[in-house]
Amino acid sequence: MPAPEKPQIRYTQIFINNEFVNSESGKVFATIDPCSGEKICDIQEGDKVDVDAAVVAARNAIKFGSPWRTMDASQRGKLIDKFASLMERDLDYIAALDTLDNGKPFTDAKEDIEFSINVMRYYAGWCDKITGKTIPVDGDYFTFTRIEPVGVVGQIIPWNYPTAMVSWKWGPALACGCTIVMKPAEQTPLSAIYLCALIKEAGFPPGVINVVPGFGPTAGAAVAEHMDIDKVAFTGSTEIGRIVMAAAAKSNLKRVSLELGGKSPLIIFSDTDLDNAVEWAHAAIMNNHGQNCCAGSRTFVQEEIYDAFVAKAKAIADKRVVGSPWADGTQQGPQVDDAQFKKILSFVESGKSEGAKLQSGGVRVGDKGYFVRPTVFSDVTDDMKIATEEIFGPVQSILKFKTMEEVIERANKTSYGLAAGVFTNDISKAMMMVQALQGGSVWVNCYDIVTQQTPFGGFKQSGIGRELGEYALKEYSEVKTVTMKIPQKNS
Ligand code: ADP
Repeated sequence: MPAPEKPQIRYTQIFINNEFVNSESGKVFATIDPCSGEKICDIQEGDKVDVDAAVVAARNAIKFGSPWRTMDASQRGKLIDKFASLMERDLDYIAALDTLDNGKPFTDAKEDIEFSINVMRYYAGWCDKITGKTIPVDGDYFTFTRIEPVGVVGQIIPWNYPTAMVSWKWGPALACGCTIVMKPAEQTPLSAIYLCALIKEAGFPPGVINVVPGFGPTAGAAVAEHMDIDKVAFTGSTEIGRIVMAAAAKSNLKRVSLELGGKSPLIIFSDTDLDNAVEWAHAAIMNNHGQNCCAGSRTFVQEEIYDAFVAKAKAIADKRVVGSPWADGTQQGPQVDDAQFKKILSFVESGKSEGAKLQSGGVRVGDKGYFVRPTVFSDVTDDMKIATEEIFGPVQSILKFKTMEEVIERANKTSYGLAAGVFTNDISKAMMMVQALQGGSVWVNCYDIVTQQTPFGGFKQSGIGRELGEYALKEYSEVKTVTMKIPQKNS
């Protein structure tokens, strides 16, 4: 079914207590179509006072004895499942909102929404399976643990996967029984706001989910430093992650989970099927226009196959279809905004000036919007900016290596540790690499396989904590140890 060129925008306001409201200040901000650089519509601009109101709603919703607190866990699951079904009903519309706001091809946006639905359903199933333990303690005591919701959670998300980021955050938080104040990215607020209408339609009690669109240093900072938010979950750059963590520490020591940047190595050994590896490596960096925290942004290729790999990587990049995200067959739309667009082109300049060989792309496409030709650099060395800093764009940097020992050291020589990939047909080599690489996800003979069931997160400065899978539940719960005196303990 073809998407409408411009989906009609139905909601542009702040969502608090199951109601759409205007900002206290009366201010609005424009969300921009990255295909044209033109305004899509105005969005109500939340600030500290709106975050405060949202926190009051979220706090009330999680009060002892509230409908949300006293609801059967299985019923929580049913509500989440209902929400997932509503997302399914409106899949094309939500995908169209993300395409309009973010610029990603409509077919990719649809995959994002399908994944998001899977995430919600996965966590719907967890609600009544989160259990404590009985513990055989010393002495005449009976001890058990209760897993309780951490409380009111603040969630700050980026623009690269607008709906998927919502699902990664809401799914586990709701499964654990938390209430939520979310600040979506200022570049892509449309889908998060629309999803609020579905939350209301699904029948969640007022205040369980609140969404305050706005900017980072204002609304985002108000979440991070709020004295009555119990936990903040942040996805975005390492630079802002550091600010969020400092704000959490300075305010009320709220719990923190961070999913940050990366400079992930993808290592291709010469024994692998070359064409297959070239295709995976291309997708690893080019998917989502390179706007992917776990993008394979350092492609290490063993010297025997280096030249052949570069030639094929260039050929496949040359063929990548860049254009309107609404058109059939488009593989890459515009970058999300002018700032990213300029940043990427400046990285291209630095690659050229530091001596990397530009094999493909490196230029703007057209004269409006933020389109960039898929770019391939060969002869990249470890200390070049394009090999050390996160570009967040469609720029493949291909480096040469000789031995396994050497590539392990070079791959790990980064402050990041989000992901890594290895291509080899030698199981021993693969298992050595799996153990040696410092990353929260390591993919062997594949890349970027992220599923609702599997934990995702970073080593080192790529983050703290894990999202998705059972592990994410830990980030949204507290463990309470309950010990009761009993007359006599028996085994
Ligand atoms: P990106 O580089 O991907 O845009 P950012 O880290 O800048 O990532 O932004 C991710 C999210 O963090 C966005 O929602 C943004 O508004 C928010 N943000 C930016 N600055 C701050 C801040 N000082 N405090 C809290 N949130 C912020």
